[in-house]
Amino acid sequence: MCGIIAISGTVGSAYEVFFGLMNLQHRGQDGAGILTVDGKDPPGFHLQKGSGLIDNVFSERSFKTLKGRAALGHSRYATVGRNDPNLLQPFLDSESGIGLGHNGNIVNFYQLREKWLNTEDSRNRQINSDSQMILRLLADHLKDGEGKKTLSASEELVLNADTMFSAIGKLMDDLIGSYSVVGLTKNGDLFGFRDPHGIRPLAMGKKKTEEGETVYALASESVALRFLGFNEIEELGTGEGVFISHDGKVERKVIKEESTSPCMFEWVYFARVESEFAGQSVYKARFRLGLLLAEQLKAQGIEADVVVPVPETSRASAIAISEAMGIPFRELLIKNRYVNRTFILDDQQTRQEAIRRKLFPIIDEFEGQRCLIVDDSIVRGNTAQQLVRLVRQSGAKEITLVSTCPPISHPCYYGIDFPSASELVAYNRTDEQIAKELGADKVVFQSIEGLKEALGQKNLCTGCLTGEYPTSVADGGAFEEQRLLDRRDKVKEPSC
Ligand code: SF4
Repeated sequence: MCGIIAISGTVGSAYEVFFGLMNLQHRGQDGAGILTVDGKDPPGFHLQKGSGLIDNVFSERSFKTLKGRAALGHSRYATVGRNDPNLLQPFLDSESGIGLGHNGNIVNFYQLREKWLNTEDSRNRQINSDSQMILRLLADHLKDGEGKKTLSASEELVLNADTMFSAIGKLMDDLIGSYSVVGLTKNGDLFGFRDPHGIRPLAMGKKKTEEGETVYALASESVALRFLGFNEIEELGTGEGVFISHDGKVERKVIKEESTSPCMFEWVYFARVESEFAGQSVYKARFRLGLLLAEQLKAQGIEADVVVPVPETSRASAIAISEAMGIPFRELLIKNRYVNRTFILDDQQTRQEAIRRKLFPIIDEFEGQRCLIVDDSIVRGNTAQQLVRLVRQSGAKEITLVSTCPPISHPCYYGIDFPSASELVAYNRTDEQIAKELGADKVVFQSIEGLKEALGQKNLCTGCLTGEYPTSVADGGAFEEQRLLDRRDKVKEPSC
């Protein structure tokens, strides 16, 4: 998962992109980059990337060089691959005059790369990530559209909505997986598209500046656009592309649409609570997840003295459970906010160490209590196991662990780090076995029907819950193998 944002039509676009990225930091903390493009005569790209948090990558000085009326930013979270600064995005192809940033994961990347390694082009450049592959294929299809394989120094591609949509259509025929992409052309045009299943989100915003300019932006989450004052916000549809020319003409087209299957985990965990997807507020969805869980808890006759959220994501659900069951809500697990989100750290040891440093119980308040501990999800079980231990050591009498997400029992091939089934605590275990494994008295999971109801979506990707994926995952074996090898530091194949 990554955060992407692009803005066109305003001086200081890099500065706006920077502040937009700050609101997408939760989507990736490995590194960040900003690409800008200066007007038409002569056109010039400016690019800065670096490892670490956005605030550490850019300084006031950065914005003296990141000039132009169009900019695009990316914050990276690698599901495969370590922190190699060469793999940070955005990527730029100077020859064709386009640059882009990608959020998602291409399941057939290894197969596409194998094919590409047999081409002449592979002698001149390297492709080490699925995002680089997207850029390469898009550039090639733009050239194909003009009947060219290469461009001479004096040749330029025609970059407009028609040529771009046609090239994106061919690209969509190549790719299997999830992808939301934002890009810039050397002329200062902005483009973006979502995959034919709409697995990853992409919102579009419009605003008028005080000077009367109309400015457009694309971003992973509406929260980043709202923060920047964009008031007309809508999502790009499934398989839809948009091309916003440097002079403000907006063209949209549904390029390739298959079954709509947005990732349920955006609402459950990943997104900021202020965002909304498919017309459904993340906050309200999380609150409803809690209300539906309260019904389940009542039906099972579970009683408790206190409802405790695991900060931060499950707070809205825990409040809903507390209100619906008439049990006091108490913030008794305190998060050290200076430790990164444990889920997106990239190896088991680092994650366990981070959990130990991240959560502290208010010991006296747990003494003799029957507790409902509410978490957004239980993935590998590291966090849950550790916090059950903490709560027990603090004197709790009974612990029921409540998960707002149904059991995650299959890998994700679309950019969330649920690697192999064997690493997932819910894989091949009953609820009783999971509770035992985690040291809790009971576990209660959201049902898949409850999830759909709470999110207000009939069609969702629930691949990691059911093993039924919206795309073919026939090539997923190679991807999973590489991901496991990568963890053992044998190869470094990145993805966003
Ligand atoms: S498999 Fe799960 S985490 Fe991955 S995209 Fe689908 S719903 Fe989201």
